[in-house]
Amino acid sequence: MAGKVYLVGAGPGDEGLMTVKGACLLQKADAVVYDRLVGPGVIAQIPEAAERIGVGKSPGEHSIPQEEINGLLLEKALAGKLVVRLKGGDPFLFGRGGEELEFLERNGIPFEVVPGVTSAIGGAAYAGIPVTHREFSSSVHIISGHGKGGPPAAMDYGALARLANQNGTLVFVMSVGVIGRIAEGLMAAGMDGGTPAAAVENAATPLQRSFICTLADIARVAENNAIQPPALFIIGAVCLLGRRFDWFGKLPLFGCRVLVTRPERSAGSLCERLRELGALVTPYPCIEIRALPVDIDFDEYDLLIFTSAAGVNAVFEPFFRERDLRRMTGKFFIAVGPRTRAELLKYGIRADFTPSVYNGESLAKELLTEFLNGGRPPGQIRAGLFRARDGAAGIKETLERGGLSVRDIAVYETAYVRQAAIGVNEFDFVTFTSAGCVAGFCRANAGAELSGVNAVCIGPGTAAAAENAGMRAMTADEASIESMIDRILEARNGTGAVQGKRDR
Ligand code: SAH
Repeated sequence: MAGKVYLVGAGPGDEGLMTVKGACLLQKADAVVYDRLVGPGVIAQIPEAAERIGVGKSPGEHSIPQEEINGLLLEKALAGKLVVRLKGGDPFLFGRGGEELEFLERNGIPFEVVPGVTSAIGGAAYAGIPVTHREFSSSVHIISGHGKGGPPAAMDYGALARLANQNGTLVFVMSVGVIGRIAEGLMAAGMDGGTPAAAVENAATPLQRSFICTLADIARVAENNAIQPPALFIIGAVCLLGRRFDWFGKLPLFGCRVLVTRPERSAGSLCERLRELGALVTPYPCIEIRALPVDIDFDEYDLLIFTSAAGVNAVFEPFFRERDLRRMTGKFFIAVGPRTRAELLKYGIRADFTPSVYNGESLAKELLTEFLNGGRPPGQIRAGLFRARDGAAGIKETLERGGLSVRDIAVYETAYVRQAAIGVNEFDFVTFTSAGCVAGFCRANAGAELSGVNAVCIGPGTAAAAENAGMRAMTADEASIESMIDRILEARNGTGAVQGKRDR
C-alpha cells in the first residue's frame, strides 16, 4: 500500500516556530526530505530511525532538479513510507509546494499539508517589524525577486509603488543581489527614497542581523554589510518600528548556540529556559535513562532518599499505576536538590529535607546533622536510597556510620544513545549534567578536536570528566539548571572564565 506524503512547513529557522502538528509528524516519519532553509534545530529533531535526505542547495551550487526530488517522494511513498517533505517557512509560499502536490496527485499518492510560519511575516516579527499596523500599513505584499540576471522584467514597479504609497508594506524574498535594481525601479515609479526599509538576514536564527535604513540606501546597506541569503527586504513605514521592537536581538543569550546533552526526558526545562533567553538550542541527548523493574514496599522504610529526578520517576511511575498516596503516610522524603524536589511535588509529595549543597555527600552529612537531630523517628531508622545503578560511593556509608540502616536500590540505569557525530565547534556552549553525558558525547564524537568546546558542567565531577576529555570546563556554583544558566550568562558577558565564541 502506498504511504503518504506530508508537506510540512518548518518555519523560518528557530525550531520552536514549527507547528505542533508538524513536529508530531516528524516524530512518526519513516523518511524526511528537507530543504536547505530548514533550521538545524528542526533537522536535529528528525528521529534516528528515520531516513533523512537533504535536497537543498547552497546559492551558486548545483541544485537537485525538481524531477529528482519528485522521484524521491514517489519512491518512498510507493514503498509504503510516511514521508515528511520539510520546507523552510511555509510550504506554499515560494516553496514549490504546489508543484510537488500536483505531481503526487498525478501519481495517486495521498498527501496532507501542514502550513508553516513564513519568514516573510515571522522573520519580520523577529526583527521587531509588524508587517501591518493600523497607523502605517493596511496591506502586505510578498514578492519574489528571483532571477539571477536581475529582477524579472515583468515586475510591475508602477503597481508596487502605488500599493506601497497607499500604506502597503512590501516584503521582497529571494532578492539579495537584485535589491538595488528593485529599489531603483520603485523610486523611478514614484516612491520616495526616504521611505523606511529594512534588511533582515537569517531571521529567527541566532545569526540574525537586521538593518533599518531607507529605500534609497537599502542596496548600499546590503552591500556594505555583505548581506547574504536568506534575507528579506522590507519596505514601508513599519520598518521604523524595528528600531524600537527589536526584542529578539536584545535577548540576553541572543545569537548563542547551545548544545544540550541531557537525556531527552529531562532536557525540557534546560532547553526551554535557554530558548527563552534567545539561545539556539540543539538537543543532543547522549545518554538515556532506563527504569529498572522495581516493586517497592514503602512499609519497609522510614526515610526515602532521592538523588535525582530520574530516580523519583523510576519509583513513582510504576507505584502509582496500582497504588496511591495513602501507602506513604508517615514517611520522610529527602531530595538532593530543587529539581528532585520539584519532581516529587509532581506526585503530590513535599520533600521534608534538601541539603544546602546539592550533592550526595552533603545530603548524607546534613541529613544526619540537621534533619535527623530535629525530626528523628523513634527506634532504628530504615532508609531507602533510590538511585541509579552504580551510584557514587559514600552516601550509604556515611549514613550507616550515622547509625541508619540503609538499603541502596538501583531504580534506573543510564545507557549511551547512539548519536551521530555533530560539529562540536559550531556551538558556543555544550551543557553537561553528568559525567555520563560527557562520556556519551565523547563516544559520539570520537576523534573530534574538543579543545575548543566550552563545557558548562553541573558540578565538579562532571567538569573533571569534561576536562579529562580535553574540553574547557566551567562549573555551575550549585548543582542546578538555573546555576548552569547563570554560568553561561556570565561567560557570555565576559565576567566568567570563558567568553562566548561570537560576541555580537
Ligand atoms: N517558503 C519560505 C520561502 C522560500 S523562498 C517561507 O515561507 O519563508 C526563500 C526565500 O525566503 C529566501 O531567499 C529569503 O528571502 C526568505 N527566507 C527564508 N528563510 C529566511 C530567514 N530565516 N531569514 C530571512 N529570509 C528568509
